Amino acid sequence: MQGDFAAHLAMLDSLGAETSEVRLPADLREIDGLVIPGGESTTISKGMERDGLDGAVREVFSQGLPVFGTCAGMIVADRAHLGLGSYLCQRNAFGRQLDSFEQDVLVDGLGSEPIRAVFIRAPWVAEVGDLTEVLATVDGHPVALREDNLLAAAFHAELTDDSRLHAKFMAMATRSRESSKAG
Ligand code: GLN
Repeated sequence: MQGDFAAHLAMLDSLGAETSEVRLPADLREIDGLVIPGGESTTISKGMERDGLDGAVREVFSQGLPVFGTCAGMIVADRAHLGLGSYLCQRNAFGRQLDSFEQDVLVDGLGSEPIRAVFIRAPWVAEVGDLTEVLATVDGHPVALREDNLLAAAFHAELTDDSRLHAKFMAMATRSRESSKAG
C-alpha cells in the first residue's frame, strides 16, 4: 500500500525468498508469509480498507498465515486496527524520544549478538495481551513481539544488513507452509 516495502523485498530476496508485492486480496493467494512495512499507518490502513485487504488479511491470518509488521506495520496489526495481535500501540510515542534513534537490542532466539535497531517515529507498545510474547525490550519496554503467527517490531529490521529477524520470519513461513501441506 505504502511505505518501505522495497527494503523488505531486498532483504528477503537476499535470504533466498521468492517475493511479490501484495496490493489486492488476490495477491494473498500464493504467499507463505506477509510483511506489513513501516511507513504511515493511517495511509496503510486506509488503503487496505479501500481495497478490501483488511478483511482478506484477517482471514488468511486466522488460517495461520505468518505476518511480520514493522513500525507502522506493527501499528496496523494491533488490536485497534487489523486486530491480528492483542497488543495496543500509541503512534509516534516512543518514550520521550521525539524522533528517531538507533539502539543495540537483544532479541530472544537470535543469539547473544544484539540487533542494531533503527527507530523512526516508532510506536510505543502501550499494552500487551496475555498471549503476547515479548522478544525484545528497550529500557524495559517491549519493542519486538510475537503472538501466534504474528511477529511485530517497533523498529525497522529491514534497514540494516542484519537479516536475522527476517530469517526468523522466513522460518515461521516455512513451518506454516509445511504444516498446511501436512494437514
Ligand atoms: N509514525 C508512523 C506511523 O505512526 C510510523 C513510522 C514508521 O513506520 N517509520 O504510522
